[in-house]
Amino acid sequence: PVRLTHIKLAGFKSFADPTVIPTPSQLVGVVGPNGCGKSNIIDATRWVLGETRAAELRGESMQDVIFSGSGDRKPAGRASVELVFDNSDGRAVGQWSTYSEISVRRVLTRDGTSSYFINNQQVRRRDVHDIFLGTGLGTRGYAIIGQGMINRLLEARPEELRVYLEEAAGVSRYKERRRETENR
Ligand code: ATP
Ligand code: MG
Repeated sequence: PVRLTHIKLAGFKSFADPTVIPTPSQLVGVVGPNGCGKSNIIDATRWVLGETRAAELRGESMQDVIFSGSGDRKPAGRASVELVFDNSDGRAVGQWSTYSEISVRRVLTRDGTSSYFINNQQVRRRDVHDIFLGTGLGTRGYAIIGQGMINRLLEARPEELRVYLEEAAGVSRYKERRRETENR
């Protein structure tokens, strides 16, 4: 399977300096004192996948994800997050399937310009969306279970629950394609 091998952050929230977070196995625990940046790592993964709702990232505006300075450190000019996936068995779908490593990166500058890259090639937000569709990973996927998500699932109306089930079953990919075809 396509597996996340590491996350690179720079200028994102509390990660002022370039930081590499290795994810060496299927299960990775992050521990540390309150405020050390654990949840910021989760915010970073949601963000690079295309999250556009600042509130979902615990901010008021999107620029709040850029390191805002501290003590003697100047604020950063931009935030960058990169997810690096191992695809040595070629399980990824679409045009990237032949690459042994797939990198997905998002950069935001203070002027509000957001750019996405797949393997250093600039792409659209929806290309990033596409590559993860049906994998459970994605801003509305179930792979990242935030606080309150379990409650949301338990209290979900049947139609909402169905969206999660279809994503889990890998059906959403095809439904989206069909919608697009019908709208043409
Ligand atoms: P807890 O155990 O309490 O859940 P945590 O490890 O999850 O803590 P985070 O919420 O990830 O902590 O990190 C919070 C820290 O990140 C705070 O100190 C906050 O000031 C800092 N932070 C958030 N956004 C920025 C930013 N844009 N620039 C600099 N620091 C930031
Ligand atoms: Mg936290």
